[in-house]
Amino acid sequence: MTKKIEDVYSNGKWSEGQGEAFESLCPATGESVWQGHAASADQVKEAVAKARAAQPKWAATQREARIRILEKYAEALKSKTEEIAYAISRDMGKPLWEARTEVGAMAGKIGHSIRAQAERAGDKVDGGLSLTHRPHGVMAVFGPFNFPGHLPNGHIIPAFLAGNTCVFKPSELTPAVAALMVAAFEEAGLPEGCLNVIQGGRETGQALLNADINGLLFTGSATTGTAFHKHFAGRPNVILALEMGGNNPLIMWDGEVQAAADIAFFSAFITAGQRCTCARRLILPEGKFGDDIISAIKTRMDQITIGKWDEDVFMGPVVSKRSAQMAEEFQSELIKAGGEAIIPVKTNGAFVHPGLIEMTGASGVADEELFGPLLQVYRAKDFDEAIAKANDTRFGLSGGLVSEDSGLWEQASLRMRAGILNWNKPTTGAASSLPFGGPGLSGNFRSGAYYAADYCAWPQAGQVANTPSSPAMVGMK
Ligand code: NAD
Repeated sequence: MTKKIEDVYSNGKWSEGQGEAFESLCPATGESVWQGHAASADQVKEAVAKARAAQPKWAATQREARIRILEKYAEALKSKTEEIAYAISRDMGKPLWEARTEVGAMAGKIGHSIRAQAERAGDKVDGGLSLTHRPHGVMAVFGPFNFPGHLPNGHIIPAFLAGNTCVFKPSELTPAVAALMVAAFEEAGLPEGCLNVIQGGRETGQALLNADINGLLFTGSATTGTAFHKHFAGRPNVILALEMGGNNPLIMWDGEVQAAADIAFFSAFITAGQRCTCARRLILPEGKFGDDIISAIKTRMDQITIGKWDEDVFMGPVVSKRSAQMAEEFQSELIKAGGEAIIPVKTNGAFVHPGLIEMTGASGVADEELFGPLLQVYRAKDFDEAIAKANDTRFGLSGGLVSEDSGLWEQASLRMRAGILNWNKPTTGAASSLPFGGPGLSGNFRSGAYYAADYCAWPQAGQVANTPSSPAMVGMK
């Protein structure tokens, strides 16, 4: 059987990449599940040129016609749920049950985006005042590995709705889903040139940054996003939407112990700790309630099932062996800073048994996001100290409070600096009908999800009349 070429999709056709060969390894089995070549700088330029050529016609297409295509795309995604879920799981290791929910979110994005665009970036005429929104042009979309379908899709759909065209560079760790998205768009009748895909790693990414783009829609780490922000310094004409990571705090103050402990467990270890919203730091009061929470979390950690993505497990491996090593290395750093492992992280290839580490009293702890299943515990004397610890981070993505005291929730919501702040719910809970993003190093104040409509178009305001009339002039002879 001839191998399908899925390297570069430009103007409606796949071709072989002219850059380095690379492959994706299934983290659970180590087998090679995708092979291809990176797009060369010339191929990136060409893909951007095709997106540029297609853009005016796409922008001039009636909004209703664009919506119909996207609705058909949602149907095509649904019909490919199993195929897409398998591709995601094989590439990055999340269990199939979870990958299926990712495909559901991709299809669900279309309805949310249509509503968001109408509400936040639509047209209105009010007397002599008119407001409309215009597309930026060609958007570069960078995806992360942890939601390789949902997150790039979350930029692409609102970008298309607004009349932009896109060049999408998937994470080199998760290349497989892109061809399935392309197939769904082809079935839906998306015109050629609107979506272009370039596979590859950093070199390909850099070529895209250097190409003739009008916007960068990025989801990934703060390190990469910050470097990209510097790259575009002095170019205010390029819109940057940077969705980055967090060092997310969860304050757990009172309430039913089992439910609270489950919220902490889920917040920290779902997707093997590889969600940007995962809780990294658990802040508990000194005394019995805090002690009880720790022992209930320990019990849950003993009950956890970890395995290959097609087994009936709570979590799969992390994305790579290197990523598993990074969890061990981070744990060592925490121990050097004065931490004491309650349950140590244990690795076996890319499989990681989650860790819980007591950090109260440690000093010089790095304010970094470890993108894996390791939860730090801090004890606080009072609620003020808990809030201060929660805010002791350069990031601001998600956070949470578990307490039955609405007064404490009022204080937390006023004082905790997190773009997604949940009460008696896991920190990972986020609704597509709400904005997604946060202050600090978590982004550049261009929230995604429901607010993605905002960064995909610029407003055009006008004062309008059917016939000219002289303006009121004062001080004339
Ligand atoms: P990453 O920053 O390593 O990579 C993201 C993308 O940027 C990939 O396509 C990668 O190839 C590209 N890239 C990375 N370095 C580059 C460079 N120097 N030059 C050119 N391109 C480069 O992120 P990741 O490891 O794939 O994803 C995990 C990160 O994403 C975590 O930090 C997580 O918190 C964050 N994340 C954020 C959100 C959000 O919405 N805020 C959602 C999911 C993940």
